[in-house]
Amino acid sequence: MSKIKVAELFYSIQGEGRYMGVPSVFLRTFGCNFKCAGFGMPRGELSNEVENIAQVVHMYNDYKELPLVTTGCDSYASWDPRFKHLSPLLTTDSIANSITQMLPNKTWKDEHLVITGGEPLLGWQKQYPDLLDHPLMDKLREITFETNGTQKLTKEFKHYLSEWSRWKHREITFSVSAKLPCSGESWDDAICPEVVCEYEDVGTTYLKFVVANEQDVLDAECAVGAYRATGFKGHVYLMPIGGVESVYVLNNKAVALMAMQRGWRYSDRLQVPLFKNEWGT
Ligand code: SF4
Repeated sequence: MSKIKVAELFYSIQGEGRYMGVPSVFLRTFGCNFKCAGFGMPRGELSNEVENIAQVVHMYNDYKELPLVTTGCDSYASWDPRFKHLSPLLTTDSIANSITQMLPNKTWKDEHLVITGGEPLLGWQKQYPDLLDHPLMDKLREITFETNGTQKLTKEFKHYLSEWSRWKHREITFSVSAKLPCSGESWDDAICPEVVCEYEDVGTTYLKFVVANEQDVLDAECAVGAYRATGFKGHVYLMPIGGVESVYVLNNKAVALMAMQRGWRYSDRLQVPLFKNEWGT
């Protein structure tokens, strides 16, 4: 039986993108190819907020105890090796059982599954079919992969997903949060149009850029140009930066206006005003 290293597994409301407001189970896998230490920092500087938390890592036995950060990646513990002891390696059977216990009717109805990270397409493509084929997952109809858009689908997983969605009118979405220079990651590593265009062969795919100011939106325009030149057809969303409410409220309206000006969509982060973006929301 396959095993997946699970950073978090919880039931909440999807706060972002196409399924905003939909009751959803979140499977947050461990591991990411990025650090995104530039978020919330002056351009060119990197956050070291997590360093202080990592120095006292022995104090934390559960995700819910971890401090939230205002800069850098807001889900740092889902990939930073210093926090890996908080992410157990679980069998797909135990994941399916835990999910069933979380669902209000103990079976899938209108809820959707979000497979997120970290970067969920980095290490676990081989294991997902075991989970999705589990009898307890049979009534699941909609999945979103929240990805940074840098990981190519393996031939086997691409084939599997195509078959999965063909069966019983199921729907697959790739919510691609491509990383702009404000993340601190390099353009060449982060903007991978060929990879993202291939997701469109399998499911509904859209781009969701996290932005704070006009310069970030100019970068997003440049990136969209590169994706379109490669044949990308999906929608574009702008989403305000801000894993904590004080940062989020500073720029959510400005970001909505910048999205409108370009005919792009605005994505909120409902988990911030609703749940303060606490772990497990
Ligand atoms: S890609 Fe996502 S999970 Fe990975 S470091 Fe960046 S923000 Fe965090």
